Amino acid sequence: MLEGHFLLSSGRHSDKYFQCAKLLQYPDRAAAALAPVAERLRKDMAAGKLTLDAVVGPAMGGIIVAYELGRQLGLPAFFTERDSNGKMSLRRGFEITPGQRILISEDVVTTGKSYGECAAVLESLGALVTALACVVDRRTETADAAGCGMDATILPLYAACKVDAKNWEAGSCDLCKAGIPAVKPGSRNIS
Ligand SMILES: [Zn+2]
Repeated sequence: MLEGHFLLSSGRHSDKYFQCAKLLQYPDRAAAALAPVAERLRKDMAAGKLTLDAVVGPAMGGIIVAYELGRQLGLPAFFTERDSNGKMSLRRGFEITPGQRILISEDVVTTGKSYGECAAVLESLGALVTALACVVDRRTETADAAGCGMDATILPLYAACKVDAKNWEAGSCDLCKAGIPAVKPGSRNIS
């Protein structure tokens, strides 16, 4: 976790940034961090509350998380990514079978924007997104989750940890007002 003034990939500003790649670079730590998430998913699957056929992560942040959860759950894992126009899409010959039940996985969830874009692609191909998973749930009360599939009453979110970190819309950021320059460590523009 970095502290400072960050421009998040969602477009919001924050005083904290979670660089999950620093954690996930160690496969043993990635496995340990996601083991409790896999355990809760397994429990709900065994209880008949949840059915999963595959794990899908939006690139870049979701790829390793999806892969590791797929490994622990014994499910195939693949990813959506942006095409040359920046539109989220399913490429590389990955296929969705109509009715296939999908767990979408991410590293950090702030507004659920990546989830929403990933879910829209999969649902347009006939998938049923049944649950969401992440390493860090940093949603706040003020984050706008509307219209991006993040309504917790519809889809359960399985997070390794929940962290309170401030975030603001670009126009109303306390750190901008204080004249502190923002840095952009995210990856939304990387395809
Ligand atoms: Zn700012």
